[in-house]
Amino acid sequence: MVDQSHTTIIAPAFGQTSSGFRGEPLSYSGLLESIRSGQVQELLWDPDLREMRATLIDGRQEVVDVLPENPVLIQAAEAAMVPLTIQDSRQQQALTGLVGNLLLVLLILVGLSFLLRRSAKAANRALGFGRSKPRLQGENDVKICFEDVAGVNEAKEELQEVVGFLKEPDRFTSIGARIPRGVLLVGPPGTGKTLLARAVAGEAGVHFFSISASEFVELFVGVGASRVRDLFRQAKEKAPCIVFIDEIDAVGRQRGAGIGGGNDEREQTLNQLLTEMDGFEDNSGVILLAATNRPDVLDTALLRPGRFDRRVLVDLPDRRGREAILNVHARTRPMSPEVDLSAWARRTPGFSGADLASLLNEAAILTARAQQQYIEEHHLMDALERVTMGLPAEPLQDSAKKRLIAYHEVGHALLATLLDHGDSLDKVTLLPRSGGVGGFARFTPDEEVVDSGLITRAKLEAQMVVTMGGRAAEMVVFGRQEVTQGASSDIEKLTTIAREMVTRYGFSSLGPVAWEGDQAEVFIGRDWLQQRPNYSKDTAKVLDQEVQKLAKQALATACDMLARQRPLMDELTNELIEQETISGDRFRAIVHQHRLAVLEENNQMATGVPTCQPSK
Ligand code: ADP
Repeated sequence: MVDQSHTTIIAPAFGQTSSGFRGEPLSYSGLLESIRSGQVQELLWDPDLREMRATLIDGRQEVVDVLPENPVLIQAAEAAMVPLTIQDSRQQQALTGLVGNLLLVLLILVGLSFLLRRSAKAANRALGFGRSKPRLQGENDVKICFEDVAGVNEAKEELQEVVGFLKEPDRFTSIGARIPRGVLLVGPPGTGKTLLARAVAGEAGVHFFSISASEFVELFVGVGASRVRDLFRQAKEKAPCIVFIDEIDAVGRQRGAGIGGGNDEREQTLNQLLTEMDGFEDNSGVILLAATNRPDVLDTALLRPGRFDRRVLVDLPDRRGREAILNVHARTRPMSPEVDLSAWARRTPGFSGADLASLLNEAAILTARAQQQYIEEHHLMDALERVTMGLPAEPLQDSAKKRLIAYHEVGHALLATLLDHGDSLDKVTLLPRSGGVGGFARFTPDEEVVDSGLITRAKLEAQMVVTMGGRAAEMVVFGRQEVTQGASSDIEKLTTIAREMVTRYGFSSLGPVAWEGDQAEVFIGRDWLQQRPNYSKDTAKVLDQEVQKLAKQALATACDMLARQRPLMDELTNELIEQETISGDRFRAIVHQHRLAVLEENNQMATGVPTCQPSK
């Protein structure tokens, strides 16, 4: 039996012959000859590698390439009795191959598991779309309380009740009172709706979840609905708690008001919200607060009893409110004792709580930049200009352009000062602001008008004349051909006022007819249908003519008044070019002095007393 791995053939020894190839690699025939001549001591044959290792009697090792079949060599070895071993390298190769294959399989397995894990993660993420991302605040995290919210006392009073429901639900439930589920906070942006909701949670010491309604609606259909479900699940786990949904109109808009059919993602989300609100039991301790600026576009189903059936108005603050808000934000900032916050409240009608907070913040930044310790009046003044007019730009060089801008701004300021119903001038300046503002005249809006929301016809007419002050000054001083387009935004403003006077307020010869509705943002679908003009083309023409008449009248009045005050206008313009800024008080003083001088002159002319002017 031939052992293929290590077969040893004991061949009879040959007589030794001398080798003629010492020092050179052995060839096949050389090997054959060496075997036959007895110079080979031992042979090791590897048929797979096709090589024969020969150990010569002098100890040298030779490797000779051979054929896989070698009957001649074997016979020669046998004849010379040279021990021949057959080496089977297949086993080794098989082992190496096996290890290689195993490694390959292992590599494939690792790769596969990596891929699987990745796709599992992606699948998890896909399933996790529905998870809502409300920002959860623990009980102790909400540190805001009603003290931090100012100027909205009525809203606070109403919400105080919600705090009571959360703190002592038994007091209400024991006498059969049903705790409300939803409260709608209605008001313009920045009035403190989010702050109030947090304050309710803070006062009651409960968890606070907040989510913006726009976060519900995602790219994938059904995600919004599952997010709503998830939000309510989380809320119920943490009850009692407050869930605050900001900008609820993003999902709560009236269904079926869209133009392209109804069953969209937003409607599914809203349906889910309605279902969830119905689904939680009375007095479960979860109270929803939602904020919106447009309650009119909300779906009526959302507002019915048992859902958002309470409405709390959070309006822009009045003067006292503004002062209170300024005081709240001044608490944490070092204010100079000279700063009079009540004067600042008077100066900022129409500002929301967020605007006031940003005013004080800007002032603090300017103070820090100037490396000063206390916020002074002038920091607040600079901050106000930054907030309302933008950042300061490079000052204008003395030029014809500067002169024109000076006349333009003095035109506005002078008319406002001369007219009985004009707003009070705060300052007029030639210091430019970013965004191409060359100079500006700033007025303090009439506080009563802003706070009451009521404006008289006389006031509107005065506003139109003042708005045209810039264009009129250019016309009076430089002539019709030299006027610039600088008054374009004034013209826009004038047109808006004139159009509203004619079409909404009944301040024209067309009588008290509401030709047009509120020009606020159109609520697609519903308002689009309602907002189409419901008057004929002829009426439209008459309306346009009436608007035009009012606008032209305003310009004519402005031109007329300024032409008659030309010397005063020149004096003010020269001072403005010289000083670059004139305060409202200084401006009024100059106008007053000028008026006195004119009066005196007129009196002297009337009484015939000679004037002190040297006669020519
Ligand atoms: P809204 O939710 O109504 O848009 P926020 O509550 O988000 O307004 O208000 C933004 C910021 O403005 C608040 O963080 C707060 O600093 C300030 N703010 C607004 N309203 C008030 C207020 N009534 N009292 C104090 N700070 C206010």
